[in-house]
Amino acid sequence: MGPVSFFSFQKFPALLLFPLISIFLSGCSVFIPETSRYETSDSEFLKAGFDIRVNLAEYKNGSVIIVGSPLTIVSNEGSSITVQGGVPLKISLSGNNITLSGEAGTISGSSLQLKSVSVPLEFRKVKYRGEFKLVKDGGTVFLLNVLDLEDYLRGVVPLEIGLKNPVYFEALKCAAVAARNFALMKIEMKLKNFDLHADTRDQAYGGLSVETKIDNDAVTATYGEILKYEGNTAQIFYFSSCGGTTEESTEVFSSRKIPYLTSVNCGPDAFCSASPSFRWRETFTANRLISILKRDGGLKGDAKILSVEITAKTQSGRVKELRFNLDNGSNITMNGTKIRYAFRSEVSQESLRSMLFEVKNLNNSGVFSGVEFEGRGYGHGVGMCQWGALTQSKNGVSHEKILELYFPGTKLEKMRYR
Ligand SMILES: [Zn+2]
Repeated sequence: MGPVSFFSFQKFPALLLFPLISIFLSGCSVFIPETSRYETSDSEFLKAGFDIRVNLAEYKNGSVIIVGSPLTIVSNEGSSITVQGGVPLKISLSGNNITLSGEAGTISGSSLQLKSVSVPLEFRKVKYRGEFKLVKDGGTVFLLNVLDLEDYLRGVVPLEIGLKNPVYFEALKCAAVAARNFALMKIEMKLKNFDLHADTRDQAYGGLSVETKIDNDAVTATYGEILKYEGNTAQIFYFSSCGGTTEESTEVFSSRKIPYLTSVNCGPDAFCSASPSFRWRETFTANRLISILKRDGGLKGDAKILSVEITAKTQSGRVKELRFNLDNGSNITMNGTKIRYAFRSEVSQESLRSMLFEVKNLNNSGVFSGVEFEGRGYGHGVGMCQWGALTQSKNGVSHEKILELYFPGTKLEKMRYR
């Protein structure tokens, strides 16, 4: 996956939003660690970071794995073999053991370390820092990239913000902090086989191959920095543009209230006004509305729509409830973010860009013919507005100040690795 460019933010909001939403969907929405395992006293500081386990691929018994670069394979019992790059290695599973066999020989162990020989490890044409590890759980073998957390971030930040202009450096630093916070949250979950996926199920990671100097500089400039709330790793959410005001998290994710994920103004005149989706329109014909109501609104039988109105808004002004008044005297209401995914664009099939919109009823000779939604912003609206961060960076605002605006009450702290 290539870097997400500045303008393609608009095309792939899901790519940016999914990683963070996925935590909620997976039932960990209220995850805030009770205690922090990160020391903040100087005496505990060690220069080495700690490792993160990124899941690159999964295999079954009989699969073939090909690593593109030469490597040494070491079993956890201590035996080792050296293998040339590009050579197929067959995976066989028996009991607790993983066996790899190929031209260079056979090696078995309950876990196998795959270490680079002179050049970085390469897998599926992507180069990686650190080392690979094969671990087994039941009938599945996971190929993990195990590497220093800070090195991992170098392969994430370039995929978050495609802009490489130095004026956006403070926004890149925000992206580095966001990626670090997200990775730490995953590490703190202490999942069994790996910490996170290498794709948008968590956050997109492109290894050494996607690194750029400016992104690496943003990671280095924020080395160990994490956003904390009352001593715990904060949950950082972000999205493309807010349209002027961000959203309270409980309106989007039905979870407990998180004080720093509250609605804030994106500056006095909306820092995100340069976003191409700062203002948008979407039209739905009466027929289309009926089919949406039949599919997602519980409409049965024949009915005509007389009018559509917004019957509730969230505090930030986003639509909370839509009411469809029908010719049979009844009405149908649709609630919450369900609306966003029910009303897909006829052209792009994408969901509504945001929930911040007004409804205009359209008519043809006095007969209801459809609606036009006039909206602002792109994304769920919770947390950091990326376009707002970009503009502030351009205006010379520090990353601390940008994060403070979107996550009020949090503090940027320097983590002491041990
Ligand atoms: Zn904004």
